Amino acid sequence: MKRILVTGGAGFIGNHLCRRLLNEGNYVICLDNFFTGLKQHIEDMLDNPNFELIEHDIVEPIDIECEQIYNMACPASPPHYQYDPVKTMKTSVLGILNMLELAKKQGATILHASTSEVYGNPLVHPQQESYWGNVNPIGIRSCYDEGKRAAETLLMDYHRQYGTDIRIIRIFNTYGPNMDPKDGRVVSNCIMQAIKGEDITIYGDGSQTRSFCYVDDLVDGAIRMMNNDKGFIGPVNLGNPSERTVLNLAQMVLEMTGSNSKLSFMPLPSDDPVKRKPDITKAQQMLGWEPVVDIKDGLAKTIDYFKSIS
Ligand code: NAD
Ligand code: UDP
Repeated sequence: MKRILVTGGAGFIGNHLCRRLLNEGNYVICLDNFFTGLKQHIEDMLDNPNFELIEHDIVEPIDIECEQIYNMACPASPPHYQYDPVKTMKTSVLGILNMLELAKKQGATILHASTSEVYGNPLVHPQQESYWGNVNPIGIRSCYDEGKRAAETLLMDYHRQYGTDIRIIRIFNTYGPNMDPKDGRVVSNCIMQAIKGEDITIYGDGSQTRSFCYVDDLVDGAIRMMNNDKGFIGPVNLGNPSERTVLNLAQMVLEMTGSNSKLSFMPLPSDDPVKRKPDITKAQQMLGWEPVVDIKDGLAKTIDYFKSIS
């Protein structure tokens, strides 16, 4: 049994991660400021004696006894992280600084949830970890993209300067049950709109691509990365290399829900990446990891979840 801190543990990926770590026999400390996280997503764990909830903002320092830290805290959907961009930057930079100080003090291993957004609007396709990216430093996505890039820098510098045991995962678009139906991401929007018979909002012409990874696969990759015995610190891409257009995703959701919703084309937000697909060779070689959940199975579970709450 390990004492494991999960920041952002009440968030979408965080709650799945907490549950899996708990089921594997660990003591899990979920830390969250409930900016985008929801108490209902961790309610089932609250009575477990091996689960602890701490309401805290990682922008403020904290001392917690722990052996491993998963730093997931940060709003992830564009409407959420653009709502208070200054706070997003603080969470990304001051937050990871506080968590790195904690890891250093506790001698803990820290895994950080970075993102495919560090590649920006990529000029290399598919994206390998060696690609430095094409990021606008002054746009509306920059608070998140540059915040995550600065966080990676801090992680590497703590590792080089203080020998802190770090892991960096670059997460590509992830979906599944317990997503916030109002988070504005394409999967949640499409499914909710299809279920309610509302127009499906397609930004731009829908030809932009994403690669969607089911949350169980992602959590499995994160845990493998944390516990790998090869001294592999990353960064490592974790995502599903099966690439599709936004339009194709919307059509799949329409078919699977049997919805009569129409497509409604809206302006493409600025700096919206044109394509995105992870090269997961490193994850395959170093972690023996690759996604196993097919998009149809993952979407079916996600649709069931959204139906159950609407
Ligand atoms: P989410 O918004 O559902 O969860 C984030 C959690 O962090 C929430 O519970 C929120 O309340 C909490 N939080 C935010 N700021 C905080 C702060 N200052 N202090 C304490 N808690 C704070 O997002 P998610 O989809 O679960 O993403 C989790 C992590 O994975 C994030 O770091 C995100 O950047 C990264 N990521 C996610 C995706 C994805 O597709 N979901 C893709 C790339 C990277
Ligand atoms: N998108 C869309 N309709 C929506 C929400 C998003 O067409 O209702 C598009 C968005 O412009 C982007 C893609 O879907 O091109 C993925 O958006 P999401 O917010 O899910 O993730 P990210 O842009 O961070 O990859």
